[in-house]
Amino acid sequence: INILAIESSCDDTAAAVLCNGKILSNIVATQEVHQQYGGVVPELASRAHQQNIVPVIHQALAKANIVKKDVSAIAFTRGPGLMGSLLVGTSFAKSLAMGLNIPLIEVNHMQAHILAHFIEEDGYDKPEFPFLAMTISGGHTQIVKVTDYFEMEVIGETTDDAVGEAFDKSAKILGLPYPGGPLVDKYAKEGNPKAFKFPKPKVDGLNFSFSGFKTAVLYFVQRETKNDPEFIEKNLKDICASIQYTIIGILMDKLKKAVKETGINQVAIGGGVSANSGIRQALKDAEKKWGWKCYIPKFEYTTDNAAMIGIAGYHKYLKKDFADYSITAQSRYKF
Ligand code: ATP
Ligand code: FE
Repeated sequence: INILAIESSCDDTAAAVLCNGKILSNIVATQEVHQQYGGVVPELASRAHQQNIVPVIHQALAKANIVKKDVSAIAFTRGPGLMGSLLVGTSFAKSLAMGLNIPLIEVNHMQAHILAHFIEEDGYDKPEFPFLAMTISGGHTQIVKVTDYFEMEVIGETTDDAVGEAFDKSAKILGLPYPGGPLVDKYAKEGNPKAFKFPKPKVDGLNFSFSGFKTAVLYFVQRETKNDPEFIEKNLKDICASIQYTIIGILMDKLKKAVKETGINQVAIGGGVSANSGIRQALKDAEKKWGWKCYIPKFEYTTDNAAMIGIAGYHKYLKKDFADYSITAQSRYKF
């Protein structure tokens, strides 16, 4: 079974081909235009998707060494995401499936970030049901109880900003380019995580909040640079390490609580922030300290990609869970 998968929910145009759950190709065209604006500009994102989608799909087919008539089904991201961006992938997927007269499969982007763990990869175990998944990305921060491929329940989520935004906005305050998350991670590796102290929010249950954290970073930097205009340059590594340490602490506190409340200690992470070295180390420590079994994705499956859409599509294909050609994109798509 060959699945051609298309992802266009935000600012990456991506296509992948999977044969029976194994990746044959996984192509991502990252849009550079947004960097100069310090964030994703929706209108520019949809225009860039329009330009990228055909070449990206051709590349994915060529790299997989298959032709269109060998494709069994088209899987695509229906949502959540930016409407203009989703429309490009959705319309393209519908037309292609219709033209080839093959099944169309709709995929929820956040479920796909979790299901990426089921991609066949040497050296990577697949989680067993039930497990907990913490999806940490540019638009979401969720703890999800996963009882089957498509049986998922959100048991905790952010009440304001996503954790990826907390990284990116903190980075922006420090004058780093967008997206700043990976840069904070890079500088944090050489800094002292206890150099500066930032407050952790008090939020009920398994929910998160990051908007107060961002403000705390802003006030801290404003105060310190008033005393010393070169404060950031002199302390960049320590500031980044302290920011990362606090954010990882917030995530791990809730994850610990979720494990305790559900009695499930199999934990997977997904989404762009799961590329962060701090959270990856924290999960490895949790295996040793508390006997959890943790699943950490391969780097290429952390930020947006079509391979994860393909694996979700493959499991829907096995259930014959196909979409109607009249299906539409949904920018807020809950599961
Ligand atoms: P969503 O999946 O919620 O719709 P998205 O698709 O825009 O949002 P992803 O591509 O999954 O988000 O993740 C992007 C986010 O991950 C950005 O905020 C980016 O800064 C962050 N990120 C990527 N690598 C790292 C890293 N090493 N450390 C911290 N943050 C990182
Ligand atoms: Fe994403």
